[in-house]
Amino acid sequence: GPSAPLVELRDVRAAYDAITVLHGVDLTVRAGRVTALLGPNGAGKSTVLATVAGVHPVSGGQLLLGGRDVTGAQPRELARAGVCLIPEGRGIFPNLTVRENLLMMTCTGRPRGEIEEIAFGRFPILADRANQLAGTMSGGEQQMLALARGLTTDPAVLLLDELSMGLAPLVVGRLYEQVAEIAAQGVAVLVVEQFAAAVLDLADHAVVLVRGRVARHGAPDSGIRDELAALYLGSD
Ligand code: ATP
Repeated sequence: GPSAPLVELRDVRAAYDAITVLHGVDLTVRAGRVTALLGPNGAGKSTVLATVAGVHPVSGGQLLLGGRDVTGAQPRELARAGVCLIPEGRGIFPNLTVRENLLMMTCTGRPRGEIEEIAFGRFPILADRANQLAGTMSGGEQQMLALARGLTTDPAVLLLDELSMGLAPLVVGRLYEQVAEIAAQGVAVLVVEQFAAAVLDLADHAVVLVRGRVARHGAPDSGIRDELAALYLGSD
């Protein structure tokens, strides 16, 4: 049967100053599953991730984590509870080496050996690149580094924003295979993408957001694909 909801948004509203961008979003992310949050530019997808990580406040509704009401919790508290946001642009340090980027994660309290074991275990190519400046790697390898850094925090909830940005489809497909394996180990994964093809192949559940409202949700089947195709063809 379905696993328990790890993250639940209930009628979540959010605004930037006077402009409301989330108009009552309901969304569930389950442990062991990949949930895809899709929709056109400006729909509010990144804002949803920001509210789950506590970096953007909700102006209405509720955020639950493992059944506990965490509405209004600070980012630090949510991070401690296992929420890990990997932002668009990846949040790695391009002028530091791969090893230095990983070493920074000793701030989690994990010893260096464990951190390298987690990172290199999941992405062996990063071991070969250990002494290379992160910014000189391919986009796909940089995204692997971002994921590896996230994994060292032992996330219960992994939030990924536009992982596919600027990457070739083949590379995106391989990254999403890794994401699916991470989910299979019990992590609740929420991925935001504007262009959905790669993620729909492995998502367990898809949510389509349009202008701050859930327009459709369900299995990532042809209905969802058709809806997205219509949305994008109809935009601009
Ligand atoms: P994108 O793929 O472009 O990031 P998105 O679906 O993730 O789109 P959001 O980034 O969440 O959408 O933005 C939702 C709306 O909020 C947009 O209209 C955007 O212009 C607005 N917005 C986002 N960030 C801010 C901000 N810091 N200040 C003011 N408005 C913002």
